[in-house]
Amino acid sequence: MTRESKQARIQRMHNEYAILCDVYPAPSCALNFRNPFELLVATMLSAQTTDKQVNKVTGELFDRYPTPKALANADERDVEGIIHSVGFFHTKARRAIALSRALLDDFAGEVPQTMDELTTLPGVGRKTANVVLGNAFGVPGFPVDTHVIRVTGRLRWRSDWRSANPDPVTIEREICAVFDPADWTDLSHRLIFHGRDTCHARNPECAVCPLAGTCPSAGIR
Ligand code: SF4
Repeated sequence: MTRESKQARIQRMHNEYAILCDVYPAPSCALNFRNPFELLVATMLSAQTTDKQVNKVTGELFDRYPTPKALANADERDVEGIIHSVGFFHTKARRAIALSRALLDDFAGEVPQTMDELTTLPGVGRKTANVVLGNAFGVPGFPVDTHVIRVTGRLRWRSDWRSANPDPVTIEREICAVFDPADWTDLSHRLIFHGRDTCHARNPECAVCPLAGTCPSAGIR
């Protein structure tokens, strides 16, 4: 690929995003949830596993512990037993309980609606906070997960696409600077779906990819 100007790259990003909008016209969060508290806990549980796996355990978890107060007072062993299949269950059970206690102690049992407040909660980083902001509160947020990192790198949507260990906060800042805040949450969903469906970590399916016409990494393994 010849050197691409910043303006050309931004135009390409919008063109490629328009294609993803056609492919995924109505994206939504793949985690099951009925309220912000459930989404917050489910997102925390989704670290290092799939949303599908999390959905298998959250029904029972929230039937048994439907509120921050209930989960704050839960028996850790019991929570571990319920979430066992999501992996790292010792840490995640401890965090879910600690998170619920912090909601009770610091936010009167309500999930806060700002990045600054959400990231004071134990186990909650920018990715989780952005998921909750965008999907539970309609506040623009751009969650950067492993799929977003990989796909934006292959598409060279960001400056550090060569880096083996890119900084998610820098990715969030650079991508958000190009798109309207109203698009951030769905943009993240669409990049995640594209990463899951086509632009796999191993063996991306460039031959059938709708972005192959302009993607700088098309056909490169
Ligand atoms: S062309 Fe290949 S590398 Fe580029 S986005 Fe599509 S699947 Fe990924």
